[in-house]
Amino acid sequence: MEAVTVAAQARERLRASFASGRTRPAAWRAAQLRGLLRMAVEMEAEICAALRADLAKPRTESYVHEISLVTSSCKFALKNLQKWMKPKKVPAGLLTFPSTARVTAEPLGVVLVISAWNYPFLLAIDPVIGAIAAGNAVVLKPSEIAPATSSLLADLLPQYVDSSCIKVVEGGVAETTALLEQKWDKIFYTGNSKVGLIVMSFAAKHLTPVVLELGGKCPVVVDSNVDLHVTAKRIAAGKWGCNNGQACISPDYIITTKSFAPKLLDSLSKVLEKFYGKDPLRSADLSRIVNSNHFNRLKALMDEEMVYDKIVFGGQSDEQQLKIAPTLLLDPPLDSAIMKEEVFGPLLPIITVDKIHESFALINSMSKPLAAYLFSKDSKLKHQFERNVSAGGMVFNDTSIHLTNQHLPFGGVGESGVGSYHGTFSFDAFAHKKAVLDRSFLGEAKARYPPYTPGKLKILKGVLKGNPLAMVQAAVGCTGGA
Ligand code: NAD
Repeated sequence: MEAVTVAAQARERLRASFASGRTRPAAWRAAQLRGLLRMAVEMEAEICAALRADLAKPRTESYVHEISLVTSSCKFALKNLQKWMKPKKVPAGLLTFPSTARVTAEPLGVVLVISAWNYPFLLAIDPVIGAIAAGNAVVLKPSEIAPATSSLLADLLPQYVDSSCIKVVEGGVAETTALLEQKWDKIFYTGNSKVGLIVMSFAAKHLTPVVLELGGKCPVVVDSNVDLHVTAKRIAAGKWGCNNGQACISPDYIITTKSFAPKLLDSLSKVLEKFYGKDPLRSADLSRIVNSNHFNRLKALMDEEMVYDKIVFGGQSDEQQLKIAPTLLLDPPLDSAIMKEEVFGPLLPIITVDKIHESFALINSMSKPLAAYLFSKDSKLKHQFERNVSAGGMVFNDTSIHLTNQHLPFGGVGESGVGSYHGTFSFDAFAHKKAVLDRSFLGEAKARYPPYTPGKLKILKGVLKGNPLAMVQAAVGCTGGA
């Protein structure tokens, strides 16, 4: 069947299911969330096998960074579902007396989730959890760059959730384009910003709201007062321990002082040797590069003439296995491609400055990152960093782990994204907050109705200024004379 027909049929079927009211009850939502939870638990081995096939992802990373984050999202949504769904009473205000007021969360309708290849299980299911919790029907388009996970999701979802309301459509650019041509009630896209622009322009045709989870260059600033060994381990864990650097919140480059750089480099090198041995290309604990396009892209970043002699650690690669070793570069020029593009791989440039405060201007001279990290014991510096550096999220003295906290929003700012999700923010991303004001037939204020008179205006002015006498006059139906 043609991609356009598949897309149109998927949307139409789901629209009919949504219109039937099937997705609205809490019981339906909870059943789907329990289904996803069961899927993640029962299919752990199959999910890990797919992630290994797509990325040679180590089992520990597959479990800790994908499966367990999905199960904790499901549990969090199940625990909070009733609370999220309950209309929230708000003060009614004197102007509308007597009345009650509330905010009711209603589902948006039929939503499209387009996910990326680097965390292909997590990034597909996590937004779906929010969409279901908020009572929507969902079409999920997994990434074709991770084909084993995409096909596993297409097989598994119908076994665990209501396929009349939650549907997987597999495919690449043609299929995604066909989906984007349909009218959705929300589009949630994870991936690079070039495609983010395409998604937004399709959405604009129908005034469809979007969440765009994009990327960028995430800086790590390292002060000279840190616990060096802990710092090096935590940078390594957030970089190479996350899909070999193919993660949106991986450290993209380090900024430290000229005087501290040799110590940091030495510590990072030792940690890397301890983690991945003397021949990291043979380590089973490092993911491979996803495909030859990305392998060649990363090789080109390393091989650029003005960059090649800046490699101070690593640099080995194996095209057959699509493996690239953890690689450190010292002071590549700021106009080199590695410092202009998102690295999204195992290469980590270290940029040196005279004083650590210079890092602020350097970060702010680039696009706003998805995450920014600072290692320091100096609380004044941390405060200044928080106040002066704009980023989707921020962590002090660690990297990447903020995404495990369901109470924190996860999303970008500026070029790194639009909107956010996780925990309550996922529910909010897929719900419309409807204002509901419920008035009594009492409380007729004649002063609000024509014919307008100076007397009525005086009463209304008094009411708007909160004058108690005017309130009483309005409530008892005074007109203020002529
Ligand atoms: P990708 O190649 O898997 O693409 C993402 C999705 O876009 C896929 O489903 C794909 O089919 C679709 N797509 C690709 N080209 C398209 C086109 N021309 N028209 C319509 N749809 C198209 O993933 P990617 O973009 O390589 O992902 C890596 C990027 O995503 C990095 O920039 C990374 O930082 C970012 N990312 C962000 C997050 C986040 O949560 N903010 C998470 C992961 C990745």
